[in-house]
Amino acid sequence: MGALNCAGCGVCCTSPIPPAFLRLVGIPVEGVDETRVQYFNDVLLFPHEIKALVERGYSDAIQLYGVDEGFMIFRLFSPLAILDFTYFDPRDFPIDAEKGEKWVGLSCVFQDVKTGRCVIHGDPDRPEYCEIYPVRIESCPPHRITGRYTPEKLKAIEDWKRRRDAGGYLIHMKTRGLKTSQLTTETMTKLLSKITGINANKIKRLRERAYKRDPIARHIRDRFREEKRLMGRMRERARMKYWIERY
Ligand code: SF4
Ligand code: SF4
Repeated sequence: MGALNCAGCGVCCTSPIPPAFLRLVGIPVEGVDETRVQYFNDVLLFPHEIKALVERGYSDAIQLYGVDEGFMIFRLFSPLAILDFTYFDPRDFPIDAEKGEKWVGLSCVFQDVKTGRCVIHGDPDRPEYCEIYPVRIESCPPHRITGRYTPEKLKAIEDWKRRRDAGGYLIHMKTRGLKTSQLTTETMTKLLSKITGINANKIKRLRERAYKRDPIARHIRDRFREEKRLMGRMRERARMKYWIERY
């Protein structure tokens, strides 16, 4: 049986471009083919994966995804980025982009948006979900994957499903008063400290040290700087749009 053949296009590491963003940057929402929008890059994290990332100094790569009745789920963060359709094939996306254009979108913090590649590919701390991806052929958004699942891969997927269905991603913790939209780096560090048992000051030191020495950590920092820059531009544009439409 031949193994799966992934085209390595990197589309599964990006997120669909939410219509709210498109409105903000003045792109007509009719341009989105909603039938092709899939939330395919939610990389959920098991508690041991969160700990491994924190120990590497990559705590900024972790995002609180949801809170419900005393349970939390975390995932990899996907900051805003410029998706360059010189590299990405616009036909793989649910929008009317053309070759050579650049669009604002969301992309996993570990993705190199200039090449579409994963900067932690082959790293032992890359989340398990990315290792077994796609769990179904249909989960490859542009349907560019070919070949068949090996028995080893099928077994790994079954094993992952069993742990997922047993609630492996759920972290039990008091969540009263916690607002996901108002999380600061400080409160996130405290949360991660409770989950991993690593002192909050040590988490900060690990992060600072990684930013100085580790190219992957610097990649994370650069992605956040780029997001901040893009947010600033989008806010400015939204303000201008408001004034132009009003007067
Ligand atoms: S799984 Fe599909 S979308 Fe992801 S890199 Fe491979 S071919 Fe591209
Ligand atoms: S960790 Fe790598 S493979 Fe996984 S979503 Fe992020 S960029 Fe893609």
